[in-house]
Amino acid sequence: MNQIALLGATGSIGTSCLDVARVHGDAVQVFAVSANGSWQKLAKICHEFQPKIAILADESCRPNVKFDEFPAGTEVRFGAEALCEVAADDRVDTVVAAIVGAAGLGSSHAAVKAGKRVAIANKETLVVAGPIIMQAAAESGSELIPVDSEHSAIFQALLAGRKEDVAQIVLTSSGGPFREKSRDEIASAGPKAALKHPTWDMGPKITIDSATLMNKALEVIEARWLFNLQAEQIDVVVHPQSIVHSFVEYRDGSVIAQLSPPDMRLPIQYALSYPERWEAVAPRFDFKSAQSLDFVPPDLERFPALQLGFDVARQGGTSGAVLNAANEIAVSRYLQEELSFYDIANVCREVLSRHTFHASPSLEELVALDDWARKETTQWQP
Ligand code: NDP
Repeated sequence: MNQIALLGATGSIGTSCLDVARVHGDAVQVFAVSANGSWQKLAKICHEFQPKIAILADESCRPNVKFDEFPAGTEVRFGAEALCEVAADDRVDTVVAAIVGAAGLGSSHAAVKAGKRVAIANKETLVVAGPIIMQAAAESGSELIPVDSEHSAIFQALLAGRKEDVAQIVLTSSGGPFREKSRDEIASAGPKAALKHPTWDMGPKITIDSATLMNKALEVIEARWLFNLQAEQIDVVVHPQSIVHSFVEYRDGSVIAQLSPPDMRLPIQYALSYPERWEAVAPRFDFKSAQSLDFVPPDLERFPALQLGFDVARQGGTSGAVLNAANEIAVSRYLQEELSFYDIANVCREVLSRHTFHASPSLEELVALDDWARKETTQWQP
């Protein structure tokens, strides 16, 4: 039985992970769940899955919580420290890191240090502190299995050859809701249009990131550290159907890909089942109906955020933490209609260029810079 701690259980990835646990109840047991403040939703999850521990990261919601809405066998805890404790709990085998944003870093780091298998959806952990996390994993023996569909595809395609024979990896991008819009149309697009993703149903932050292609930028950085590649070995191609989840090209020119209909339950399930494969929860690819797969190079003119990902993957050091923090605030200001679409990339570029760069920062330095970049982005005016 794989005992999982599902951190971010009330979100989009959390919900898909619970679907997997529901179907594969013979192999997966939900030991702990967490939310930020959605305690009613968390209580409902607890009634179905009967975890031992439920955590609300936002301590300020404590006075509102009706404890009798949680089952008797579930202990309710509060605060970010409780997330780290459960991530390192001896009774947990796998931590599913499904919190959104840099708020997921502390618990992911605790899980890695404790030598857990980490099913990592929270890409921000690797964007902010990739080298520190990978070093900690090497020391503890922790396995990081990607949940991001692109990285899951790369992880699977890398099993086809030797690391030293990899020429490059190519991450696919749906192109987001503005793939076919002109720069002028995109410039005036508000959050309502940006939140309509053509192929994936995800939380609001990553959906905006998909519209700007900042999500792909963050994925380039995530891949750099997770697979220990040079930035020059990572490329992006737009693939509107979201069927091919990414490619690995080997030195002999062979390209290995992983294909499946867009459904996050498959990569989540794989991160839990690896190295086994379990019966499909998500729909299978339909070979009986005619389909076409298109691939187009990304347009950096209309989607300038993507260039920031290539730049930051090359620079490393403190750049990832600054880009991520600036983007989190910029997205939240865009959702509140304080910033326009292209302001998101503009403010990120500006805050990045103004920060004091360190090549090998400590975790404490990264946390301090994250705070600095948030303040700078909050005050920034177009
Ligand atoms: P959602 O916004 O849907 O869910 C976020 C989860 O994190 C919720 O459980 C939320 O709790 C919790 N949370 C929010 N803020 C905090 C905080 N400060 N401290 C602790 N917990 C918090 O996000 P997604 O599920 O879309 O994304 C989660 C992660 O997975 C992101 O890093 C994203 O990039 C990545 N990812 C997502 C994909 C998807 O398809 N959605 C695909 C690939 C990667 P509450 O409900 O109480 O707010």
